[in-house]
Amino acid sequence: MTISRHRAASRPRRIAVLSVHTSPLEQPGTKDAGGMNVYISQTAVEMARRGTSVEVFTRATSSDQPPVVELAPGVLVRHVPAGPFEPLTRGELPSQLCAFTSGVLRTEAFQEPGYYDLIHSHYWLSGQVGWLARERWGVPLVHTAHTLAKVKNAALAHGDTPEPRTRVIGEEQVVAEADRLVVNTEVEAEQLVRLYGADPDAVRTVSPGVDLDRFRPGGVEGARAALGLSPEAVVLAFAGRIQPLKAPDVLLKAAATLVRRDPELRRRLVVLVAGGASGTGLDQPASLRRLAGELGIADLVRFLPPQGGQDLVNVYRAADVVAVPSHNESFGLVALEAQACGTPVVAARVGGLPVAVADGESGVLVPSHAPDDWADALARVALRPAVRAALARGASRHAARFSWQRTTEALLDTYAEATRAFHGTALEVAV
Ligand code: UDP
Repeated sequence: MTISRHRAASRPRRIAVLSVHTSPLEQPGTKDAGGMNVYISQTAVEMARRGTSVEVFTRATSSDQPPVVELAPGVLVRHVPAGPFEPLTRGELPSQLCAFTSGVLRTEAFQEPGYYDLIHSHYWLSGQVGWLARERWGVPLVHTAHTLAKVKNAALAHGDTPEPRTRVIGEEQVVAEADRLVVNTEVEAEQLVRLYGADPDAVRTVSPGVDLDRFRPGGVEGARAALGLSPEAVVLAFAGRIQPLKAPDVLLKAAATLVRRDPELRRRLVVLVAGGASGTGLDQPASLRRLAGELGIADLVRFLPPQGGQDLVNVYRAADVVAVPSHNESFGLVALEAQACGTPVVAARVGGLPVAVADGESGVLVPSHAPDDWADALARVALRPAVRAALARGASRHAARFSWQRTTEALLDTYAEATRAFHGTALEVAV
């Protein structure tokens, strides 16, 4: 038997993906929908193409949602009633985990025995559900935390609300129960072991991907025209959920510093902020607008609602630089997507961003959140055409190292390994 046939044989036929607090059907870039939603839908589609069916369980948030929706061939989204048909905050969701778990178990009970071969839970709330389902179904649990409370709390924006202790406890339990823990970077692997006591042998680092068919370099002028921007403009962009952790305020302060240093720039500078309110930043668009006014740059800042499809591609292509000033970021898909469009990224040197951005090759990493440092880095890239052109080439090159196909292959390998370990039948490669 060849290695690839052996691999295929130990791959699951069907998996249950748990995504309690947010659905892969939602538009990312606002509320609870972000990189995790993109991760789940992109890898699910790729898994189904490789013969592993995926059923994603998410909480029903409206009575209009059908119980089951086909996201793509081989990928179902199951809406589980648990609590009111309306959005709940993450703080309220733990009270609905029992109802949600009951819905998941009931769905499985209606199928033939052994319907799901494996569970992959995303975020700690889903991990709690997966923990119980694992025991009931006798299948392995693979868990991805996406973010960790202890890491978030250590990098909190000034005045932001810390994650509660109940989340820390819940995360610790899931780390102890999961068969495999998937992380985005080696930094996160180390955090999981050091801060949560994870067994290093259970941790697998799998790089997230980017859709290189959708996000690719293309006409800058066309993208700018679509946004009503002039070809001569100097365009700085931010895309993502608007919340203190993402620090869009740092970009605004740096932009104000740039026009203070060079008042001439005011005629050409545009700052795009794409995304909607989220998490502890529910009042953020309003307070960001206020900040822009206080900084005297309200006329330079354009707020865009969460962008989908080609609109988001146009934002990335139109920008001279995409800024990712986050206080913490377990990876930063926006950084990768912008680079795939041939746009250099200036990012904070935190979390997974040093993996997502190759410092000096595809963008610039800034070791602080000081507006002066950010203004320096943004000016270095956006105002020096030769530097920008070199980084733009590097950006496409760097992004091409990532893909959802590669991510999915690594996840499927992790599933196969978890299955062999769980059932205690390390399949020998028969030659
Ligand atoms: N996004 C989007 N429209 C927007 C802003 C963001 O679709 O207007 C998407 C973006 O394409 C990316 C995701 O939201 O895939 C954000 O992921 P990231 O890892 O950058 O941040 P997270 O939301 O996971 O914290």
